[in-house]
Amino acid sequence: MGTGRKRLIAGNWKMNCQRAAALELASSVVELSQASENADLLICVPSIHLADIEKCLQDSQVKLGAQDAHWAESGAYTGETSVSMLEDYRVQYLLVGHSERREMFGDSDERVANKFEAALKNGIKPILCIGESLEQREQGVTLDVLKSQVQAVIDRVGIKAFENAAIAYEPIWAIGTGVTATPEQAQEVHEQLRHWLATHDQAIADGLQILYGGSMNAANAETLLAQPDIDGGLIGGASLKADDFMKIYSVAR
Ligand code: PGA
Repeated sequence: MGTGRKRLIAGNWKMNCQRAAALELASSVVELSQASENADLLICVPSIHLADIEKCLQDSQVKLGAQDAHWAESGAYTGETSVSMLEDYRVQYLLVGHSERREMFGDSDERVANKFEAALKNGIKPILCIGESLEQREQGVTLDVLKSQVQAVIDRVGIKAFENAAIAYEPIWAIGTGVTATPEQAQEVHEQLRHWLATHDQAIADGLQILYGGSMNAANAETLLAQPDIDGGLIGGASLKADDFMKIYSVAR
C-alpha cells in the first residue's frame, strides 16, 4: 500500500433492520471478520440497536459506530440522543454531515461542526461526510463545495483535530443509485482534497483516512480501493448483506 494509512471499511446501515435482523447481521459480520493490520472494520447502526450490538461485538475486532447524535450534553431536545450517551455504549465512530441528514434533516455546516466537535470532546472519532450534487459536478464546482464543507469544520475545531477524524467523500449522485464514481473520478477528488488539506497541514493530510462512499459493492471495491488516495469505504446498501460487506473488507485487508 505504501501510504502508511490504515484502511477503514465502514458499513452505514441507515434506517434498516429490526431488532432480530440487526443482531443477525452484526453476528454474521463478527463471525466472518478476521483481524487485520491493514484495515479496520466498522458498522454504524441505528441508535436503538446500540445496546444489543455492543454486546454482540464484545471480544470481536468489529468497531461500533452511530449515524447521528445531538451535540448538547443533555437537555430539552425531545427525541434526540446526545453524543455523550453514545459513549456509554462504547461507540467509537460517529457519522456527521451525511448528505441524507444535510438534505432531509437540516444539518447545516454549522450543525455538522457542532456534532463533529461534540464527538471529539467525547472521545468519539467523527467521520465527516461531504459530497457534491450532480448539478454541482456538472457546473464544475465539486472541489469548491467539498472545500467549503470541510472548511466549516476546520474553522470550528482547527486542522489538528483531524488527527482523530476521518473524511468520507460521497458524491450525492452516487449514493444508493447504483452509479458509482469511476475509480479515476474518485481518485482525482481524493487527491485534490488531500493536496488542499496539505496547504493547512501536511502531516494531517498525509495521515488522514479519506473514504469513498456511493454504491461501493463487492464488484467495484477492488478497483476503487486500489487508488492511492482512497483509504476505505463508507458502504450503505452493500453493508446490509454480511457476505457482500465482508467481500469488500477482504479486498481492503
Ligand atoms: P450506498 O450508500 O452504498 O447505498 O450508495 C452509501 C452511503 O450513503 O453512505
